[in-house]
Amino acid sequence: MIDYTKDLDFYLKKLFSINRSITGDANRQTLKILQDIIPLNILEYKSGEKVYDWTIPDEWNARDAWIKNSKGEKVIDFKKSNLHLVSYSIPLHKKNIKLNELKSNLHFLQNLPSAIPYRTSYYNKNWGFCLSYNDFKKFFNDDDEEYEIFIDTEFKKGSLSSGELLIPGKTKQEYLISCYICHPSMANDSLSGILVSAFLAKELLKNQSQLEHSYRFIFVPETIGAIAYCANNEKAMKQIKNGLVITTCGGGYGKYGYKQSWQKENCINTMVEDVFVENNIDFITYPFDIHGSDERQYSSQGFRINCASITKDKYYEYKEYHTSLDNLDFVKANVLNQTLNLYLQLINKMDKNIYFKNLYPNCEVMLSKYDLYPKTGGAQLPGVKVSALDIILYSLFYMDGNTSLYEISKKISVSIEVLFANIKDLIEKNIIVRI
Ligand code: ZN
Repeated sequence: MIDYTKDLDFYLKKLFSINRSITGDANRQTLKILQDIIPLNILEYKSGEKVYDWTIPDEWNARDAWIKNSKGEKVIDFKKSNLHLVSYSIPLHKKNIKLNELKSNLHFLQNLPSAIPYRTSYYNKNWGFCLSYNDFKKFFNDDDEEYEIFIDTEFKKGSLSSGELLIPGKTKQEYLISCYICHPSMANDSLSGILVSAFLAKELLKNQSQLEHSYRFIFVPETIGAIAYCANNEKAMKQIKNGLVITTCGGGYGKYGYKQSWQKENCINTMVEDVFVENNIDFITYPFDIHGSDERQYSSQGFRINCASITKDKYYEYKEYHTSLDNLDFVKANVLNQTLNLYLQLINKMDKNIYFKNLYPNCEVMLSKYDLYPKTGGAQLPGVKVSALDIILYSLFYMDGNTSLYEISKKISVSIEVLFANIKDLIEKNIIVRI
């Protein structure tokens, strides 16, 4: 078990209140901070670039925004919480605005009166403020009151920023690990995903010489960033079969769960369940559905990547979701560290899921010739019901180039880790070869 709790806590606090959106300097700043953890490449996709059916929007930056009452008091202040401003709001300065002219641009949640909701208006030029229902009742209760509205934002032909890190392993076959960087001042959705991804990458880099697969980490704004990345890396992305979309994985209250990949029977789903079972964690299974995160793009017809997500307080499922209550009280570094360890265990299984071919398919291999037959019969591996000899015999029986190591491990009821450790001699003695 690795322990990055202190670092996770440090970066949670450092990154939390940055005003991320789908474009803008705040996203660059976030990616630059992540470069302290891992050697991320920062990619820029220009405004106006066509990416499949979409177009990269103008870059948006927000400097300030507030509403003052007639006494000149700021009753809403972007500088206190960037959730107060609807993301992608147009610039505006208006005085003497009556409440009824303003109301349709104010967003609050009556059922969660202390929470500021999170709202965006990326593709519809608009403006708006979000506030708690308590503040709404306190400051917006007089129809005759007049307000001054100020929104200092800028749209320009700029670019959409994304981060990428490729970690090559022994083979070029890749796994995708994706998270999104477009949410301001919310911790579970999805600063949790950003940090778990970054520290996963850090761990894989540490053990890079051992990796059987290569890993493609991407940090993109949700939807448009994932689409832009697919469009710009189509060939590589079409080679990938499995991935992880890391999001909402650090909630402090709810149960662990996972969203299944689009093909229910895909091994990535069983592997996630194995990890939960091995850790005695009771979990919720969320079947694939068409909503959700960037698996919507990666699993689309052209790509069909089977992506799973381990969640703790999954998006849509907790009441603090998309509000100011998804904060640093809700997400704890020790929970993130636990999730990080679960993902590492999952990746360890995924990494070892390779294909071998027995070079002696006609009848049995004469094991004693290769010193592979145990000198004394009957010895069993500690904690495993199948003997070392049986693992070798079954492996040779099933290794036809089309049956994965994970499938074999399931057939003989040993973990993929034990199986992998026990076929090393077969590789060294050139009896099996990796496909
Ligand atoms: Zn979200």
